Amino acid sequence: MTAISLSSYRRVTVKIGSALLVDRAKGLKKEWLKALVGDIARLASGGAEVLVVSSGSVALGRTILGLDKHTLRLEESQAAASVGQIALAGAWSGELGRHGLNSGQVLVTLGDTEERRRYLNVRETISALFRMGAIPIINENDTVATSEIRYGDNDRLAARVATMMSCDLLILLSDVDGLYTAAPERDPEARFIPVVEAITPEIEAMGGSAASELSRGGMRTKLDAGRIATGAGVAMVIASGKQLNPLSAIENGARFTLFEPSQTPVRAYKTWIAGQLEPAGRIVIDAGALKALQQGKSLLPAGVRSVSGGFARGDTVAIIGPNGREAGRGLVAYDAADAVKIAGLKTGDIAGVLGYEARAAMVHRDDLVLSHSASQAKAC
Ligand code: GLU
Repeated sequence: MTAISLSSYRRVTVKIGSALLVDRAKGLKKEWLKALVGDIARLASGGAEVLVVSSGSVALGRTILGLDKHTLRLEESQAAASVGQIALAGAWSGELGRHGLNSGQVLVTLGDTEERRRYLNVRETISALFRMGAIPIINENDTVATSEIRYGDNDRLAARVATMMSCDLLILLSDVDGLYTAAPERDPEARFIPVVEAITPEIEAMGGSAASELSRGGMRTKLDAGRIATGAGVAMVIASGKQLNPLSAIENGARFTLFEPSQTPVRAYKTWIAGQLEPAGRIVIDAGALKALQQGKSLLPAGVRSVSGGFARGDTVAIIGPNGREAGRGLVAYDAADAVKIAGLKTGDIAGVLGYEARAAMVHRDDLVLSHSASQAKAC
């Protein structure tokens, strides 16, 4: 039996499947939500930052509107999502509020996590919610997302959010308690898999395609989520949420499958930045800025000598040291046109030139990786 202590994780995404939260006949499962929120409040009071990815908008909207026909047209399901989401968010904020916790609704579409410019924006907003002590309640923006541009399942959405926010754990709560060698309801020989060290083709073959009636994701999308999460350094747990207090249950001996991460989140993110093939621009810096980077600081406009290339905010740029060699790479916080205008300026002068209150760093230290030679120089 695998046992984990959730209090050892610093930032955790919890994804809740629709079937756990919504009863098609009766609507929201209030007692269940209340108990889960008790678990979340306990984690938060222990110092963990918790993000919730909550499904259930379409299912709840259907129940509220009495739409009981089997399949809905796209616009009907988007309308149901709109009605359901407002009730869902209200329920979360009400329950968290009883524990003195604020919450913030974040509705994302595929582009918000896949396009880097928007990715940085969503990340900033969620980070700000954390700083303010509010719990982000995330769902796909089902009311506007159409089939070509949507995730469709919250398993993969939750994995992208967890990697984007450098979580160290993603918990998928659904009506299955983990991964089996075959579908347990059909195959009496099916064996439970407590730990997955790597998602090999053999593990993938165990995914099948089963999904319950209310939710979109089955084991297949959970394995997709596992690939996204573990590849980016996020551990993942698939656990049953059928009982009350499912997070406490994970700590108290309930069965679950743990997918082990392949590396730490920070290292994975930095490997991704370093591995960008073609930087979209070049930023030449002075010796003082290079020294600051080697001390682990961000690149400020004051240390920038020149800027070239046609990059957009969030693109990868090469950072060139005073000796003309690449000192590192990072995701730039400004479009090229603005970066040119503020190169060499002190932080206090930036807003006057740009006409808006901007972020201080040209490349934030979290989004920056030094090349081998530059980081070696630090040791000298
Ligand atoms: N975003 C959908 C909803 O809230 C759920 C998708 C899923 O079941 O994974 O209704």
